[in-house]
Amino acid sequence: MRKNIVAGNWKMNKTLQEGLTLIEDIKKGIANKTTKCEVIVATPFIHLFSAVECVKNSSIAISAENCADKELGAYTGEVSASMIASTGAKYCILGHSERRAYYGETSDILKNKVLLALNNGIKPIFCIGETKEERQANRQQSVVAQQIEEVLFDLSKDEFENIILAYEPVWAIGTGLTATSDQAQEMHQFIRYFIEKKYGAKIADNTTILYGGSCNPTNAKELFSKPDVNGGLIGGASLKASDFLTIIDSF
Ligand code: PEP
Repeated sequence: MRKNIVAGNWKMNKTLQEGLTLIEDIKKGIANKTTKCEVIVATPFIHLFSAVECVKNSSIAISAENCADKELGAYTGEVSASMIASTGAKYCILGHSERRAYYGETSDILKNKVLLALNNGIKPIFCIGETKEERQANRQQSVVAQQIEEVLFDLSKDEFENIILAYEPVWAIGTGLTATSDQAQEMHQFIRYFIEKKYGAKIADNTTILYGGSCNPTNAKELFSKPDVNGGLIGGASLKASDFLTIIDSF
């Protein structure tokens, strides 16, 4: 069955101490209550092991924000999927628009990263989304379809079942502009239909599709009320415990 998920993406924010304090506050906020979604926190690499220790005995899972496109070897400064797995992290954000735009991550590179993550037991949170210009040209569906097809559609059914998708319109990330809940639903429904054509109705129905892009405590409830929106990937609003907790409570 598809899961509802609220995942925080810290990006390059928070020192280790600040990050652990934030996780402690989130832990306190969800202790002794049943959340209607899985909670994931994606931290910089250097925090992963400590973050995993910190969430032990809680329901929070830890994610990386990226991984190398090579298995191991002479790639100074890179962090491999097996290293991420060895910290106890369970997820890895891949294909974030900031990685695509600032670090030149192409579909070929992302294909390697997705496979390496899966081969190491890490579930990818795979991000897709169109730019403002692409939406203005009404190309959003073809752009998203191409991003999915190029990176994911050589996966077997078993492999694909471990993928979480995050629809993140680039024009909404960190801008304060949010897709309307109808725009999000329209795209999520299209993505599910596109997956169904390739992998069948059961897998499409079971796929978790998150919305990301200036999701905040005010708009989360409306976005999450849509049938194909299974939660959010949250950037800015995941950096403050009270905001993140309100979003978690929006289901
Ligand atoms: C993100 O970077 O994944 C994101 C959704 O950021 P924000 O919530 O700040 O728009």
